Amino acid sequence: MPFTTHSKAPAPKTPVAKTPIVKKKIMKVIEGRTLATSLKADLLKRIEILKKDHKIRPGLAIIRVGDDSASQVYVASKKRQCKEIGIRSFEHILHSATKQKMILDLIQSINEDPEIHGLIVQLPLPKKFNTAEIIQAISPQKDVDGLHPLNLGKLFCGIEGGFIPCTPKGCIKLIQTVQKNLKGLNAAVIGASNLVGKPLAHLLLKEGCTVSLLNSKTKNPKELCCQADIVVAAAGVPHLVQGDWVKIGAIVIDVGINRLVDTKGKAYLIGDVNYDDVSKKAKAITPVPGGVGPMTVACLLENTVISAELFSQL
Ligand code: NAD
Repeated sequence: MPFTTHSKAPAPKTPVAKTPIVKKKIMKVIEGRTLATSLKADLLKRIEILKKDHKIRPGLAIIRVGDDSASQVYVASKKRQCKEIGIRSFEHILHSATKQKMILDLIQSINEDPEIHGLIVQLPLPKKFNTAEIIQAISPQKDVDGLHPLNLGKLFCGIEGGFIPCTPKGCIKLIQTVQKNLKGLNAAVIGASNLVGKPLAHLLLKEGCTVSLLNSKTKNPKELCCQADIVVAAAGVPHLVQGDWVKIGAIVIDVGINRLVDTKGKAYLIGDVNYDDVSKKAKAITPVPGGVGPMTVACLLENTVISAELFSQL
């Protein structure tokens, strides 16, 4: 007679709806300090080669006029970082009562000094000076800030070999830590100064981006930024860029440095981007401080080393 056995086969599984694994995209903080440290480590090696093979030690002259406290801090930081990697720096401090002609004469003598490979004038100058004339007096071969019309002109015409302004150069390096190939991306650059916005727009163009260059008269800045894969804020307006100015997944670079004072009278720095808000949507974002600032100085040092290398080939 047939008998029944209890099957040991596992009971058929009832299908259980799988909980979908939602991969949360992690927002990247673009650490300018880390990138600057690695660039400076590379420069240190290039300086060793210059010293060993050509008996050249790069030299940077810095002219500072007046007693602007922010300028004093920036120049002290540039000098300290020069020393760290073996660049000799020479600071020329002039009183704000100095005549324009004296600055032009000083620039002329530094232009002719073979020990100096880079020359910068710390900006902004006190209002009474003709800044354009002063920048044009700097030899384009020593213009490591890249602000002489010849160097800016080369950049704007797509001619290789000029010095690239330090802040825009640093911004491109920061962006390319997130995405190397920028071809076809939309970029919005807020701020159109010769120092930052205009040269950066040209560098982005060179990388194949479609660039909107915004200024204080732009009617629809939020709309333009919302379409951008890359947003660079360089207007000098605290927290101009809010969360609803940025599309999801954008790369956001905050150039702005705004000094504010809190209710207790304590000074603090904020950028042009509302970091807390924008970082909820951005793919990657630079902090302030610690983003663009350190890269600006590192790129100044890089331009000085490039200049010394070019001198070594003469
Ligand atoms: P700037 O004053 O020369 O130029 C500002 C530009 O922003 C102008 O083109 C102006 O039209 C535009 N602008 C002003 N308000 C605007 C608005 N509401 N919308 C759109 N555009 C607006 O300034 P700059 O020298 O180019 O510097 C800009 C900011 O970047 C400042 O905060 C400065 O401190 C900072 N900065 C930082 C570094 C760094 O290393 N992190 C270097 C240079 C400048």
